[in-house]
Amino acid sequence: MLGTMALAATHAPPVIAPADAAVSLLDLDQQGCEALVSGWGFKPFHGRNLFKWLHKHGVDAFAAMTDLPTNLRDRLTAEALIRMPRVAAELPSPDGTVKWLLELADGQRVETVHIPEPRRSTLCISSQVGCALACRFCATARQGFNRNLGTGEIISQVRHAVRAGKAPTNLVLMGMGEPLANFDAVVRAIGIMRNDLAYMLAKTRVTLSTSGIVPNIYRLAEVSDVALAVSLHAPDNDLRDLLVPINRKYPLEQLIPACKAYLRGDPRRRITWEYVMLAGVNDSDRQAKALIRLLEGTPSKVNLIPFNPFTDSGFSSSDPERIESFRQRLQRAGLIATTRKTRGDAIAAACGQLVGRVADRSGRRDGAAAAVRGPLP
Ligand code: SAH
Repeated sequence: MLGTMALAATHAPPVIAPADAAVSLLDLDQQGCEALVSGWGFKPFHGRNLFKWLHKHGVDAFAAMTDLPTNLRDRLTAEALIRMPRVAAELPSPDGTVKWLLELADGQRVETVHIPEPRRSTLCISSQVGCALACRFCATARQGFNRNLGTGEIISQVRHAVRAGKAPTNLVLMGMGEPLANFDAVVRAIGIMRNDLAYMLAKTRVTLSTSGIVPNIYRLAEVSDVALAVSLHAPDNDLRDLLVPINRKYPLEQLIPACKAYLRGDPRRRITWEYVMLAGVNDSDRQAKALIRLLEGTPSKVNLIPFNPFTDSGFSSSDPERIESFRQRLQRAGLIATTRKTRGDAIAAACGQLVGRVADRSGRRDGAAAAVRGPLP
């Protein structure tokens, strides 16, 4: 977008660099790589090998892809490119979390966070530049929506982490953006994450987090079986309408059945409900009870998230005792309930703090909690 504006300002004719016409290989899944090379007259298995070089081996130089025919390597050099983001900043946190600010080809920036734990490491990736959903307690919402990421831009975050020596055991689509609002690119990227010739992640190790775009939960069920996390944050429509405004379009009586259907009755699966703990807003005993009632009959795990503050959010986190008492209440009712350990807050890498350092275009400011609290009974 910045590039377009610069061109308009100088009235320069658009320059079509060879790169503009080149095939962006990271946008292709295995099938796409096979189709590309078959279309050039090579055997599909060379496409399979190309895909493996790109993802399993993380190789950039076509010359190093030694089992591809030389004339295929030449053609790739002339007509294809491996478009990786530029690391605009790398921010390590004292707790071991690392946040990368990644700059895309058009200058837009997204954030990716690597969270090491004793027995696993999780990579939190972004699916859009900004977000259109306007959840009241989320910093990404403040920047408004810029654009969707392409499959290559999504998977390049994983590729970057692996090449930086931080291969994840778990992947969460919980960074910037609403993954189900960028359906096709996200689903193709998930396919690459899961592929044994690429990142080999089992379905239970990839979690897509959504604010609840109901029709696309049904669509996702048709093409994928990754774990589903849903940003619930309120036990009733009145409060959820305010905190997660997409609820006005897809209220709880549509959301809950969609999530239940997603599990397809498989007793090993459950929905993870994310519930950000906002002091005085959604953390009362009465609301815990309402939450228990709401989730009755849906195999569930509730993940309580202490609110991560950001400038002028207008909210504060429930204190640890309140969170623990809320958690125990859920647990006593037979729900699995955990409290998310906040990681990376020293570098603003925690949930809801990712803003990619672009201008605030939303105009939203103070008083969010007050506005939300206002209509509460
Ligand atoms: N759009 C998707 C994924 C991105 S947000 C979604 O809504 O699920 C990832 C998680 O972080 C969501 O559960 C979101 O509600 C939560 N979150 C957003 N802002 C937060 C904040 N300031 N503190 C704690 N969690 C936050």
